[in-house]
Amino acid sequence: MSPLLEVRDLAVAYGAINAVSKVSFTVESGQIVCLIGSNGAGKTTTLRTISGLLRPVAGEIHFDGQRIDRLPAHEILARGIAHSPEGRRLFGRMTVEENLRLGAYTRSDEPEIRKDMDRVYELFTVLGERRHLKAGLFSGGEQQMLAIGRALMSRPRLLMLDEPSLGLSPIMTQRIFTTIAELRAEGTTVLLVEQNALAALAQSDHGYVVDLGRTTLSGTGQELLADRRVQEAYLGESVSG
Ligand code: ATP
Repeated sequence: MSPLLEVRDLAVAYGAINAVSKVSFTVESGQIVCLIGSNGAGKTTTLRTISGLLRPVAGEIHFDGQRIDRLPAHEILARGIAHSPEGRRLFGRMTVEENLRLGAYTRSDEPEIRKDMDRVYELFTVLGERRHLKAGLFSGGEQQMLAIGRALMSRPRLLMLDEPSLGLSPIMTQRIFTTIAELRAEGTTVLLVEQNALAALAQSDHGYVVDLGRTTLSGTGQELLADRRVQEAYLGESVSG
């Protein structure tokens, strides 16, 4: 069976700046896969390219066996890839409910949309309690929950989360990672970009290290956690001997 997502030798540039030069990885259906790496390694650029917000200069992206790297962003969303971007990109003057509705803009099945909205409120009870309040009033952690909830409203087959724990307290980070595990248990496939390499690898079936625009290492989450190069570069541990 072919993987749900396959990224092959991806290269992406911003004008003359090569942000990604050779990124390759696969995501199998039902897995959590993470990309870890330092600031500026090219992880966000990779997700934005999968979403169709940027065009690659080389390489290919296949989703469910079909090439998608030439498709417009709305078509990629309609095929089942949702993206919760870095910095959340919520509409602060809109309510929780209005933000969630925007996540379902490709759909018209009202009763099912309502059902999915209730599911998001079940997952994140604080959003349900505040459904009529404006998103701009919320804490960072609550906004992160809303960003994930909004991405879920398209009923994605692949959920891409860019830095979901950025700026969150340890308790909120734990909450977000628990939710990612719950989503996976329900069958959602997750592609995760994280600076918090320890938490991300601990949760992931598979991980890839991105360094200077290239995927340099890969393995199961546990293999990468045990890898000395990963420990030294990304887990803040110096290993002797
Ligand atoms: P971070 O976690 O800091 O977002 P990242 O691994 O996601 O890091 P990218 O944001 O993809 O990395 O950035 C990759 C490279 O592309 C960096 O050198 C960055 O400075 C550059 N870059 C990112 N966005 C732009 C842009 N809009 N214009 C020009 N260069 C950019």
